Amino acid sequence: MSIDPTHFEHVREAAADGVDFDGLSLQRGDEAFVLETPETSATRVDPSDLADALASCEAYVSNWAYWQRTVGGEGTARRAFLRWCERAPIDEDVADDPTEDPLTVPERYEALRDGIDREWGQLAITTRFLDVDAAGERAYDLWHVDDADADVADLEVYDDPREARDIATHDADGRYRPLKTAPTLRSGWAFTGLSGAELVETIGFLYPATIANWHRERRGTLDIDHWRETAERQTGIYELIDELPREAVDWLAEACCVDSQCLRRREWEYEEGDDLAVDGGDGAFPCREPCSLVIAAARKWTILENETERTYELELTKSEFNQLAELVDAVADGRIDEIREADLEDGANRFRARYLRAKRFDEDGRLEGRERE
Ligand code: SF4
Repeated sequence: MSIDPTHFEHVREAAADGVDFDGLSLQRGDEAFVLETPETSATRVDPSDLADALASCEAYVSNWAYWQRTVGGEGTARRAFLRWCERAPIDEDVADDPTEDPLTVPERYEALRDGIDREWGQLAITTRFLDVDAAGERAYDLWHVDDADADVADLEVYDDPREARDIATHDADGRYRPLKTAPTLRSGWAFTGLSGAELVETIGFLYPATIANWHRERRGTLDIDHWRETAERQTGIYELIDELPREAVDWLAEACCVDSQCLRRREWEYEEGDDLAVDGGDGAFPCREPCSLVIAAARKWTILENETERTYELELTKSEFNQLAELVDAVADGRIDEIREADLEDGANRFRARYLRAKRFDEDGRLEGRERE
């Protein structure tokens, strides 16, 4: 086994200041180097024997070269994320995932031959060696989790991160996606053979800021803007949202921020010390402040909540009354397209809804009824 000559030169140079990375320790003394790995205790190595000594722990050397020479960026979100992708220990000031043990270099080198899979929202990421016969350089493949078992030949294959912009813009039915982290990312595409920087850029188009905020959270530096402070700093047409009643903010979070509607894990609350009644969700990446979609929705609800409640008298059978609830449920859960025309048991069935409208609406298209004095 021989050592890559470029890696050899680089690590030998770096030894002057001392190399201590991912289990590889190489220090240059006056007359000899001292080499140590988790598998071998510290050993004095004559400079003329250094290439052979490093060849015996070639995985540690090429791993050092990949992270320190190719990736670089110590302390950055990009580097931390790429290390998370291959289940490496993350940098010193970034907490590892408490639910799993990081892999050692030999374990990763074994796994990277077939690829290490990770999920990030609806994204499936595979980290693998670019060339299994010259292990070291990594390549990254990215696709939709629903396509994890698909043949790449059946997918639209891209290699330019900017192509991800279009993928993120519309859902599978061609509808505009105002919230990029909604679980409506369309499938049928793949990015293959990306570099680490390209992977991070691609994810930035699909799920903006998620890597940066994940990194901040792991470092304990995620600055959270809760509802009150966010609402109070709004200006223009959104200035009024700080009038939204306290309990309505619970309803807003339940409407917009739960896992079924958004893959971010809501970390903001009503205000420090006053948590919302709704769980923030289980997403991999945190949400640090109410987003623009929620602010726009809050404006609408603030206006609507200003209306006075009234009592109405309507003539409905018990089934018709229950049907109203079924209709609201079906719309709120996005179930309308799944209800078969023949399923007349479902109150949100199209024919049931049309029948109710024909029977109970007046000629102006309103529910017949009257406001009680
Ligand atoms: S505010 Fe709610 S809907 Fe908006 S990104 Fe955060 S969790 Fe998602």
